[in-house]
Amino acid sequence: MLFKEVIGLVDLKKHLVQTVKDGRVSHAQVFLGNEGSGNLALAIAYAQYINCTNKQEVDSCGECLSCIKYNKLVHPDLHFVFPVATTTSITSKPISDNFIVEWREALLDNPYMDVFNWLERLGIENKQGNINTEESSSILKKLSLTTYESEYKVMVIWMAEKMNAACSNKLLKILEEPPEKTLFLLVVGEHEKLLTTIISRTQLVKVNKIKDEELISALQQKHSLPLSQAQVISHLSNGNYNLAVQLIQETDGDDFNFSNLQLWMRYCYGRKFADLITWVDSIASIGRERQKNFLSYVSHSMRETLLLHLKLDKLVRLNGQELEFSKKFSPFVHPKNCDEISEQLNKAINQIERNAHPKILLLDLSFKMVDLLHIPV
Ligand SMILES: [Zn+2]
Repeated sequence: MLFKEVIGLVDLKKHLVQTVKDGRVSHAQVFLGNEGSGNLALAIAYAQYINCTNKQEVDSCGECLSCIKYNKLVHPDLHFVFPVATTTSITSKPISDNFIVEWREALLDNPYMDVFNWLERLGIENKQGNINTEESSSILKKLSLTTYESEYKVMVIWMAEKMNAACSNKLLKILEEPPEKTLFLLVVGEHEKLLTTIISRTQLVKVNKIKDEELISALQQKHSLPLSQAQVISHLSNGNYNLAVQLIQETDGDDFNFSNLQLWMRYCYGRKFADLITWVDSIASIGRERQKNFLSYVSHSMRETLLLHLKLDKLVRLNGQELEFSKKFSPFVHPKNCDEISEQLNKAINQIERNAHPKILLLDLSFKMVDLLHIPV
């Protein structure tokens, strides 16, 4: 994993590179970040940089022997610990090593995965993944191995807050008398669930959520999304790249939102109540995340439409068919109804989050939209 493959986090990457240049690499660090922030990817990129034999100014070379093995996550001095549970093939005392092949595949596919994605991959998404006592013996065994090829042996512990008490205590003992040239990178989402004694023996690396503009640009580049769609997805996923990718897969590109926006507005403005009811039925069945995504998209589109109404065309960030539609629709969105439209859409999004009944909610919202769109300019 190269630093450049990790989205955003520009200042933090600089800082990490600098610790290596200054020879100030702390032997135990906690990469604390929310889901989808890339804290796991960043920890691996950091380890790769430390062990790269041809370090570049801001990143690993990607080509030296160490990098080649790191790229595939098969470097013999790179060890992983992560939550596991019993499966049909491993029926008792599971440890990370039992699943290392699946782990590498999953991580290479999606370095932003969450624990649900990971357990789903093993076919056990209905179980709780944990890091158990057996794992600590395995960690000790790995530490007793001599370093094969690199300066540092690296132990990445993903979701370290999932360690049970026995495992945490063993790790604490190790951290109290740290083995030479061994680096512990604990990747953590919930700091408060770690033992305070572990926290006090580790250096904190706070991984902030990905900034909006960085996420938008990543979504445009990696997923070829148009700007407007990338903005909506970024807004909804709140700095969680993993969630953003799921939303893209669920919404199946931007066609879904755009075609439904056109239908909905046509039915609302035309007071076509029978059509509205059929339309609400279909939207009520698509799942909450997609409904929220759709309503955010509508909210975004209404804002742009208002700008067109106000002749502020230069500020409008739409193109193609979306722009054509908003132009045609712009007489109906104006200062006398825009605030209320936006408020109603946001309220509906919040209510969906709180598990409101989707059909009742969307029908109610549709009737309000009918009235709002008929408020005279
Ligand atoms: Zn290298």
